[in-house]
Amino acid sequence: MQNKDLSLLKELGLKLTPQRLAIIEYLKGNKNHPSAEEIYNALKDRFPSMSFATVYNTLEVLVEKGLIKELSIDSSKKRFDPFTHPHHHFICKACGKIVDVEAPFEVFVPESLRDFQVEDFKVVFTGVCHECKKE
Ligand code: ZN
Ligand code: MN
Repeated sequence: MQNKDLSLLKELGLKLTPQRLAIIEYLKGNKNHPSAEEIYNALKDRFPSMSFATVYNTLEVLVEKGLIKELSIDSSKKRFDPFTHPHHHFICKACGKIVDVEAPFEVFVPESLRDFQVEDFKVVFTGVCHECKKE
């Protein structure tokens, strides 16, 4: 998500309230793939009048406009990702952490699809992260 995206949001008619700006600011560069609850909890002290619905609706608009991605990797809750370039994920079964996996497209395209025009795909690795493995 970039600064130019903010002007895009204005053009699209989304009123940039302080709450919405705080949500956008919270997501910018965030590599933790937060859920709506996490974002709400992080901001509610600063904006006591902000409802959970405001957070949720803002996230939905950002997803709809393609400024963030919604991840359905975590079966317990939707998670959000401000990094919209194609990349993959690892989810830890123990702590629920989602980590980005950057790998070239070609690595995952099997031989049998060589003559196809593959445009998108999702790879989700599951297991136990480095920290949880040590315990
Ligand atoms: Zn873990
Ligand atoms: Mn990601």
